[in-house]
Amino acid sequence: MLPLMMNHPAGFAVFRSGKMEIFSVTDGEVIYEDRCFAPGIPRALLGNSPRHFILPHNILVLRFSNRVVMFDAGNGYYTAPEAGQLQYHLHAAGITPESITDIILTHAHPDHINGLVGTGERLMFPGARIHLSQAEYDFWMSDAPDFSKSKNTVANLLQTQQHIKGILRLLDNQLHLFNSTDALMEGIRPLAAPGHTPGHTLFAINTGEEPFIHMADTCHEDELLFRHPDWGTIFDIDFEQAAQTRRNTLQELADSGQLVFGYHLPAPGFGRVIPEGDGFAWKPQ
Ligand SMILES: [Zn+2]
Repeated sequence: MLPLMMNHPAGFAVFRSGKMEIFSVTDGEVIYEDRCFAPGIPRALLGNSPRHFILPHNILVLRFSNRVVMFDAGNGYYTAPEAGQLQYHLHAAGITPESITDIILTHAHPDHINGLVGTGERLMFPGARIHLSQAEYDFWMSDAPDFSKSKNTVANLLQTQQHIKGILRLLDNQLHLFNSTDALMEGIRPLAAPGHTPGHTLFAINTGEEPFIHMADTCHEDELLFRHPDWGTIFDIDFEQAAQTRRNTLQELADSGQLVFGYHLPAPGFGRVIPEGDGFAWKPQ
């Protein structure tokens, strides 16, 4: 992959891979308290980890053939000004919201879908088809989702669910729900990775010269969860299943050595997973 421009102050990087242009557009960063990570693990074991985690939000945009495909949509106005910068940075990259043909959602957590809706319930990408896993949609739209396997509080989860439900209802006319691992379009194939959420999905992208995997929220930062895939986060809906999926995914990515993109990894988010000790490490590229 050939870097065309690395322009982090402008909020995006662009690469060329064969006939495809690959953009990594930042939505900004959000600070999370360290209690959100490795719940139940004595803080002393976190070593030099900071008291807070600063999470980047990298939004992948692929331009190929006559499509412009965006993966997730960031935090929207809810976390401005630290995040919710997607619209500004798309503009800086020369991508208009109207030109986006498809938006593929890795899952429906607010930091991935809030940017689809603006103030006054305005739809920010009204011309795009929005692809979401059926399992993910069914879980959040359900009357009584099973929150018993999460380490978050039920009160927090119910509040999050009401919010997600509201956003998904607004997107109803744009949604395309998928429930298989058939390619969504030429060269883009979903890979079910349940646990973080029931419909959490990774994507195998094979539209350019070098195939790569969008690993979504497999790891939320570049150290702790690579070293200790089992330590998890309070955002995992099924904590044990998420840990198992994380370990299996990291093992497969380390074995294959293939190029990987991560939503919450340091911008622009590309790198490889390598084995290290009992766990893994992130090697940015
Ligand atoms: Zn996330």
